[in-house]
Parts: sequence; C-alpha cells; structure tokens
Amino acid sequence: MHCGPVRLASLAERFGTPLYVYSADQMLERLTLFERALSDRDHLLCYAVKANSALALLRLFATHGAGFDIVSGGELERVRTAAPEALDRVVFSGAGKTSDELDLALKAEILSFQVESEAELALLAQRAARMRRRARFSLRVNPDVFAETHPYISTGLSEHKFGIPIAQARRIYRAAREQRWLEAHGVSVHIGSQIRSAEPFGAAMARVARLVRELAEDGIPLHSVDAGGGLGIDYEDGSSFDAAATVREYIESMETALAGLKVRLVLEPGRFLVAQSGALLTRVLYVKKNGRKTFVITDAGMNDLIRPALYQAWHEIVPVEPRRGRRSTVDVVGPVCESGDFFARDRRLAPLKPGDLVAILDAGAYGMAQSSNYNSRPRPAEVLVTGRNARMIRRRETVTDLFAPELGLS
Ligand SMILES: *Cc1c(COP(=O)(O)O)cnc(C)c1O
Repeated sequence: MHCGPVRLASLAERFGTPLYVYSADQMLERLTLFERALSDRDHLLCYAVKANSALALLRLFATHGAGFDIVSGGELERVRTAAPEALDRVVFSGAGKTSDELDLALKAEILSFQVESEAELALLAQRAARMRRRARFSLRVNPDVFAETHPYISTGLSEHKFGIPIAQARRIYRAAREQRWLEAHGVSVHIGSQIRSAEPFGAAMARVARLVRELAEDGIPLHSVDAGGGLGIDYEDGSSFDAAATVREYIESMETALAGLKVRLVLEPGRFLVAQSGALLTRVLYVKKNGRKTFVITDAGMNDLIRPALYQAWHEIVPVEPRRGRRSTVDVVGPVCESGDFFARDRRLAPLKPGDLVAILDAGAYGMAQSSNYNSRPRPAEVLVTGRNARMIRRRETVTDLFAPELGLS
C-alpha cells in the first residue's frame, strides 16, 4: 500500500505507529474540483478548519488561495500562525462566541462574522463600537431543511441549536441598519455534515435566495451567500467514489437556486477536502479469541480516532501487506478501557498477525482533530506526503507533554 509513490510500511518504520498520513496532492486535487465547478461565479472556498486543523494543512490551502471557516479564537490563532495573509479570507461561525473571541476577530479584520443569534449580533455591535471597527456580518439562518445524515451532525432543522429561524432574518437585518458599526455583508447556512445528496443543499439555497431578494427590495444588498460545508464522501466504497461528479451536482443544485443573483458564493468544505486524503496507520498488537469472537487489538485507539465510537462511523480497514489465506470475521479494537473503543465490528479481513500493519482509511477529517489523551495516551505523529517527499508535520506527543499544564504536586 502506498500514499502516492511512498510505501506506507516505510513510513511506519520511519515515524512509528499509530501515525496519521496525509496526501497533499489529493487535498489540492479536491480543492481544484471546487474551483473548476465554480469558474463562472465569484466565489471563495473557506476550508473548515475544525475538520483537520494542522498548521501545515492550513498553510497548504492558503497558498492555493483558500480562505478559512473558523469556530473559535483558537482556530483564528491557527490561521494567524500558519497564514496571516489569509486573515481577510476568514469567516467566523459558531453559536457561542465569547467577547474575547469577537475582539480577537475584530482586531484581525476578518471577512465576516457568521452570527447565530440576535444576542450575538447585539454583542458584536457593542464590541465593534468600543473598538471603532466596522464588523461585517452574515446571519446564519436556519432554513428548516432536513438532510439525511447521522443525528449528531445534522444542523439545519429548527430543533437544532444552530442559526436564526429564517423567517426572523429580514427583521433583524432591517434593525441592524441602525447600527453604525455593523455592515450586512451576506447570509449563511450550514445544514449538516456528511450529506450524500445534492438536493437538500439546493432546497436550503432556494430559501436563502428568496431572503436575499426580499432584502434587496428593502434596500439591503448582500454581497455574499455562504452555503456552509457538509458535502459527504463514500466511506464504504471510497475507490469508486466519483468526487468530480459529486462536486458538479452539488454546485449545480445551488446554482439553480441562485439563478440571476449576483452574489459571491462562499463554501466551507471540510470533510470533502481532507477525509479521503488521510489514513491512520496502526500496528496489530495482539489477536485474541474470546469464545466465538476474534479481536484484533491495534496500537491505535478511540482516543486517536473517535468517529466509530461517536457516530457509529464505518471506516475501511486494509492490511498494508496482505497475507495469503482465508478471510475471517473479526473486531478491530484499540487498547482503551471502553467497550466503545473499536474501529470495526464483525468485519471480514485477510489474516492478521501481531506486528502487521493496517491502514484505517478516510481518516483525514475529524480524526486527529477530535483526538484526545484519554487513558493518558500521547497522540500520534502526522506526516504529509507531497509527491515522493514525506514530511513530519507534527511530532508524536510524549507523556511529558501531557503533564506540562498540571500543577499541585509541590
Ligand atoms: C463543521 C462545519 C463545516 C464543515 O463541515 P464538513 O461536513 O466537514 O464539510 C462548515 N461550516 C460550519 C459552520 C461547520 O460547523
């Protein structure tokens, strides 16, 4: 198994396991798919930092013209550190921004605050007035559109905590006109994550387009429409997944809704850009039989990749150097003391022995980003492969790293 021309086995030997491996070339290919599909429209791609916030990846995307969708002051500092020139291409989402975070972003003169409540807009007006800085904002509206996905990552229904009911948006934009330090820049939506059909994006965009037209009648011209992120991939059949066609259909469904509107289209893809470009490499520690079940215990655990435990997510698992012999049904599990610590259940896999390497595929998004130190496990190293060059972009944590913030022993 390879990442581009680079053998995964050689990376495991060089950098140890568990190890996250990413392909820069594949990430940029994905970015290009959006650029191509949007060539007829003014647009800005704002990579959703929370999907994978490695500084080296932020720099890579910024170098290729992307902006960023952030959800915290910490992510703002990541962009500032990796690509300060991209701060004016940042949009700031999130339902619970603090005063400190608003101040930080005002000072950085980001492109737009994606405001999720009237109270947040009032606070933003106050902080902007204090600093005498104009704040460009977009209301994040909740379009009440259902998108089929896991309930934990669905966000576009009125029962969710996100956004402002779209029926209230017009009134709030009108009221905001009276605020000297606020500037209505655009409108945004984000209906959820891992959405596999283009249709809900079009439906949400149709509601947003109606609002944009109403506001234009009110004399409030919006410059941009932010469709959020959420475009999904095929975890179960990654090799036959047609990414280009998926992007084209997605853009077409939104273009239909936006027909005739001269607005800039902002997109916030996260998973779609990085998920399939990454794998988690792990070594088999033990193979153990308990009654009728066989457990393959790996040196990676749920603290390194929590998606199976958190979202019942399915990841393809492949032996890096497959052995001959009959496949058998196994559970692939980690060493963490939780029954939820599994990567696969009842999976048919080629024979595996202690010391073998396996790759957990499509782990580039919400993998390292959601990792933790549970069980006092230092987190994996990360390697970025560009062409034939493999570069470590984050060293493996040490136990000393984990203790560093702790006090109270003296
Ligand atoms: C999480 C999130 C994204 C990215 O979602 P993906 O499914 O990874 O594309 C984009 N915008 C907002 C507001 C988000 O919360």
